[in-house]
Order: sequence, then structure tokens, then C-alpha cells
Amino acid sequence: MNTHPSSVVTAAVFDTKPYDREALQRASANHGIEWHFLDFRLTQDSASAARNARAVCVFVNDELSRPCLEVLAAQGVELIALRCTGSNHVDVDAAKQLKLTVTRVPVYSPHAVAEHAVALLLTLNRKTHRAFNRVRELNFSLNGLVGFDLHGKTAGIIGTGKIGRVTAEILHGFGMRVLAYDLFPNHEWARQAGVEYAEVSVLLRDSDVISLHTPLTAETRYIIRADTIKLMRRGSILINVSRGALVDTKALIQALKSGRLAGVGLDVYEEEEGIFFEDLSGEVLHDDELARLLTFPNVLITSHQAFLTREALSEIARTTVANISALAGQASFVEGSVVT
Ligand code: NAD
Repeated sequence: MNTHPSSVVTAAVFDTKPYDREALQRASANHGIEWHFLDFRLTQDSASAARNARAVCVFVNDELSRPCLEVLAAQGVELIALRCTGSNHVDVDAAKQLKLTVTRVPVYSPHAVAEHAVALLLTLNRKTHRAFNRVRELNFSLNGLVGFDLHGKTAGIIGTGKIGRVTAEILHGFGMRVLAYDLFPNHEWARQAGVEYAEVSVLLRDSDVISLHTPLTAETRYIIRADTIKLMRRGSILINVSRGALVDTKALIQALKSGRLAGVGLDVYEEEEGIFFEDLSGEVLHDDELARLLTFPNVLITSHQAFLTREALSEIARTTVANISALAGQASFVEGSVVT
């Protein structure tokens, strides 16, 4: 049980990286939060490390399954504060039944994520990742580095929420025609931004660049798979900074082997848990599909870093601290952040 006076909230922070610790400590000065920073992920087995904590703070690859939530609830945890937007990794029904409040960060910097999507696109298209390595080896040859003008080409944005809209606007600024697809189209924004909504099949058929910006749900899982890849233009570029399981990796590898896709930029991967965010440089990679993806010169993978800007980190920390402080009655939960 918590032994502190009710004005001090003890929070166990799982999967803490140095930049999380710094941002949370900076945001919580005078907020009466006692942090327990843990560098391992939350799993059913590690959940006991949250004993004495009223709040648990976790990130995208922590486990929030029913058995894990049961351990947390039995220890007296009241709040699970996600330091991310997506809540697809939470067993929401179990959290409700166990009377655990779950909060997320509804918005931090859509610009951080959208700009990273565009960074992947520009790098892949102009092959600056390969040019960087070549020039360091004094190889000044340009052979194999031909890209294409984005200006005048068509971009397809799947999901026009906060991040998808910013991505669309940046690409429109490059002089691209922008097609969009969303379950709930925002026609007023599209009119102002010069974006056209289209059926997903039309978007896939007509786009030279496709960027995914939906959350991971039962409907969006494998939205990019063998039969939807077949609809895509030969030579198109696919960017996924949203969630790994939006893309069927096996089908993606086949499409890359056949030369159907000109480039793939991934900030997320369906089996990233336990791999992304870790330094495995001295170890053997056991994931054969990730290993295969890494062999393609036209695949660019970053390790779920699209959110990683100073502005995003400080906004994530501000919302997280506000939600944890709400436990001590110092504030209410940040609007739009309560999942359960
Ligand atoms: P958002 O909720 O503002 O937008 C999501 C959009 O997807 C909404 O417009 C929604 O209507 C649409 N959508 C939902 N289901 C759909 C479907 N089946 N078909 C078509 N459209 C559908 O979310 P956001 O802030 O723009 O974030 C999008 C996603 O980006 C998050 O869910 C998260 O998974 C991911 N993300 C990744 C990082 C990173 O660091 N790589 C950081 C933040 C967010």
C-alpha cells in the first residue's frame, strides 16, 4: 500500500530512457510526485516492481494485458499513464473491470511525427542514406542514386487525424497532389488544404507515395497486405510511422523482392517489441523478417523515433505529470486523455 501522505503520488516509470527521466523531472518540479524510474519494460513478471506506486507510467511496448493489469490492481495501482497517443496495447475491458484509470497523451506534437515521415520519404527518394555512406568511403559516384521530383507527383494519406493532416499539408507544400482517405473525412480541412478525399482503392492506385496515419485497430490491421499492395502503383514509396501491424511484413518483403515498391520507410514494425529502443549491436538478431528487411537498399528503418523531438518530449511529460497530479486532487485529468 502507498505509505506517503495523499498529496505525494508515487509513480513507477517503466522502460525509462534518459530523455524520459529528464523531461518528467523537469515537468514535475513542485508537483509532489515521487518517481521510481525503472529501465525495464512492464510485463506480468516485472509488474511487482510497481508495489507502493499509485501510478504507473508506461510507453508503447510495455505490456498491458489482463494478467499484467491484475498484478498492478492487486498492488493498489490506481492510474496507468501512457506516455504515448496510441492505446492499442491496453486491454481496455480488463482495465475497466479492475477499476484502473488509463490515460494517454492525446496530442503532443503532430509536427514531430509528420516531419519524420517526410524525412524518411526524402531520404529514401534521394537516397541520402546511401550517399552519406558512399562519400565517407571517398566513393563520389552517383550511379544508382537517381530519385524523382516530388513536385507534381501524387501523395496518398491514409488517416487524416492530427498527424496525417500535417503530413498532407507538408507534401502539398512540395507541390504534390494529395489524396486522402479516412473513415471520417474532414471536408472543411481538405478544402482549405487543397486535399482531395478518395476511396482507398483509388488512393492506392493513383499515389506515387503512400503514408499511413491511422491508429492500429481491428479494421486497420494489415491495411497494407498482398491484395492491397497489388493495387499500388509499381515504383511507389510506402511510409509507415504509425503502428507496425498496419503492414503485413511478409507481403511487404515479397513486394520488395519483386521490385514492385521503389522504397519503404518504416518507423514502426509489427514485431518491434523488445527490439526497438534497445542497443542490440553486440547480439544476434533473431527476427528473420526484420533481418531480411534490413538487407534491402531501398528500405529505411528507424526505431520508433518519430516522436523524439524536444517539443514532443516536454509536451508528453507535461500531460503525464498533470494526469498523475490529478490523483492527488491537484488538477483534473487533461481533456481527451482518459482512455478508461
Ligand atoms: P488521430 O486520432 O488524430 O487520427 C487518426 C485518424 O485515423 C482519424 O482521423 C481516424 O478517423 C482515422 N481512422 C481510424 N480508423 C480508420 C480506418 N479504419 N480507416 C481510415 N481511417 C481511420 O491520431 P494521430 O495523432 O494522427 O496519430 C495517428 C497514429 O500515429 C497513432 O494512433 C499512433 O499509432 C501513431 N503515432 C506514432 C508515433 C511515432 O513515434 N512513430 C507517435 C505518435 C503517434
